[in-house]
This record gives sequence, structure tokens and C-alpha cells, in this order.
Amino acid sequence: MSSQELKRAIGYANSAFELLKRSAIPPYPQFYELLYTYASGVNPTLNNRINAIFRSGDAPSLNLAESLYNEFLKADVSDRMTDVSERMHARIEAVHDAIDTAMTTANAYSGSLQMASGDLDRDISVSAMKALANKLLAETRHMQETNRSLEQKLEASRDDIAALQRDLDDVRRESLLDPLTKIANRKSFDESLDSAIAEAIVTGGPLCLMLLDIDHFKTFNDTYGHQTGDQVLRLVAMTLKSNIKGKDLAARYGGEEFVAILPATSLEGAHTLAEKIRKAIQAKELLKRSTNEKLGRITASFGLAVYHPTDTAASLIERADRCLYAAKHAGRNKVIKEDDLVNMAPIKISAA
Ligand code: GH3
Ligand code: MG
Ligand code: MG
Repeated sequence: MSSQELKRAIGYANSAFELLKRSAIPPYPQFYELLYTYASGVNPTLNNRINAIFRSGDAPSLNLAESLYNEFLKADVSDRMTDVSERMHARIEAVHDAIDTAMTTANAYSGSLQMASGDLDRDISVSAMKALANKLLAETRHMQETNRSLEQKLEASRDDIAALQRDLDDVRRESLLDPLTKIANRKSFDESLDSAIAEAIVTGGPLCLMLLDIDHFKTFNDTYGHQTGDQVLRLVAMTLKSNIKGKDLAARYGGEEFVAILPATSLEGAHTLAEKIRKAIQAKELLKRSTNEKLGRITASFGLAVYHPTDTAASLIERADRCLYAAKHAGRNKVIKEDDLVNMAPIKISAA
């Protein structure tokens, strides 16, 4: 490293510390990395986001730093999966090597025993007998040592593999979560809907799908900024999640759309629940954490569909989506269920 490079790196490190101090963010490695990356300017998108926060007169909060780190720097699930799988592979190779060594020693030992038994079949002198006993003793010791070393290696591997198993479980759990809202992601939703449909076919019980889309969210973001928009997404996710129970699943479907799978729930039951969630969202007065500035309220529109025996996952989603579209068309902040659609005037779709 040239002295100039070193000087530059120290400069970045100093600014990172300075920014952490100024924002009252603890200099944990991940936050240091975040602000070091900012100071070095290598990621213009990250810098634009952080600059926008500074421009608004705020400093990045701990929560914000955490979500920026997760968004820009944290290795994604597939990188971590590759890492665990490589470590697992290396461990398995080490165990194979240890077993190979033990087997080679065991084979050699068994060869020596065979030779010894051949020697014993013949008349041999006392001194030859002594030499033979010593040789067998030495080989037995060697065999014992190899076994002990194998045991130790297996023991160490057992601990390592248990740790790897925990890492793998974490990665698997995380791969099913939406990083922003920490509720189930689209992948998890797709899997859960397939199994909920399979179960509804077996039990013959009703199964409902609730689709929810925040109203005029683009305007909200444009007015108060993306970061505040993200906080609202978390709030809606929590409201949805805290209102469902049992086998229900709440997921982020995409952007500012959420979905709930409601097994063993009739369309009427789903309607009551959707109304409760709609009112709960509408009732929340939004406050900007850093300044306590009042941001007003948000609303959401809902579409509800119930599973029919001819449905596929896609056709069920499509029907819920049509209901959601009708709810938007009817003025937003509304719940529309599939049997309302027949009573509604057809929606005119104007060409864009
Ligand atoms: P409508 O009532 O018709 O649903 O209007 P809308 O503005 O909510 O819908 P539109 O589809 O026009 O815009 C959705 C907006 O959601 C666009 C984008 O700014 C915002 N959005 C999507 N994903 C995210 C996200 O992860 N974070 C934030 N903050 N905003 C997001
Ligand atoms: Mg939308
Ligand atoms: Mg919307």
C-alpha cells in the first residue's frame, strides 16, 4: 500500500468516526463500515440517500443506519448460503480425511495381526516371541493414538456442524422474510399459498385471500421522503400481522402491497377482519420520529377473494387483485370482496 493510499484510508476512517459521533450512532463494525463506505464515496446511491438525510437537517438515526446497512452492505442471503455451504463442505472433507487415516491404520494393524498369527503357528524362539509382542504392542499404541485423534476430530466436527446447522437455519429463516418489514416475503407467500390451497382441497374448508395496497403512497413518499415511507411500510406490516392469528400468514407482496392468507375463513369473516385492519391503519396518526412532526394519516384499499375448487393460486390472486382495483376505483380506503364485484358497474379502463 502506498503512503498516499494509507493517508486516504485514514482520512475515510476519521470521517466515518466523526460522522458516527455526530449522529450518536455506536461505532459497531457494521455502522463504521456504512459510514466508511459513505466517506469513500464508492457507492453513489448510498451517498445520495445519506446526503438527502443530512440535507433535511436530520442525522441518520440508529434505525436508519441499520436499514441502510441491510440494504447496501449486508451480504445477501445467497452469499451467506454459499458461505455456509462452503464451510460445510470443508468440514465434511476434513471428517473424510480423518476417517481415511483411521482406516489405513486399521488395515495396517489387521495386516500385522495376520502376520503375527502366521508367525505364532510356527515354532518360534522366546526372543522372537518377545520381538513380536513388542511390535504388536507398538502397533496397538499407534492404533490407539490414531483412534483418539479421530475421536477428537469427530468431536470438533460435531460442534462445528451444530454451529453450521444454526447458521443454515438462520439463513433459511431469513430467506423467507422481507428485510424491510420483517414479515414473510413473496417467496414465502407463494409457498404458503400453495400449501394452504392443498389443505383447503383436503379439508373442504374455506380459504380467503386478502390483498391490501396503501393509498396514494407515492404522494406520501414524495412529500415526506423514502425513509419515512419505509417506516410507514413497517407500521402497516405490523398492523396487518398483529391482527391475524393461528394459521394465517401476512406477507409483503411487493412495494406497498401486502397480502394475508386466511385458511378456514369465510368471505364474511375475512371482510370483518379487513374492515378491522382498514380502520386500524386509518386510525394511526403518523409522527416523524426524529422531529415529532405530524404527518397526518394513511389509508389502504383491500381486495378479498375466496378459494373455489376451479381456482389455481394465480386465479385466486387475480380475483383478489380485481377486487382491490375496484376498491381503488370506488374511492380508496375501502374493502371490496369478490361477491361485491357482480353488483358493481363494470370498471372502465382508460388507455394510458
Ligand atoms: P394508489 O392509491 O393508486 O395505490 O396510489 P399509489 O401512489 O400508492 O400507487 P403507485 O403504484 O402509483 O405508487 C406506489 C409507490 O410506492 C411508489 C413508490 O414510491 C412506493 N414504494 C414502493 N416500494 C417502496 C419501498 O420499499 N419503500 C418506500 N418508501 N416506498 C415504496
Ligand atoms: Mg401498488
Ligand atoms: Mg398504492
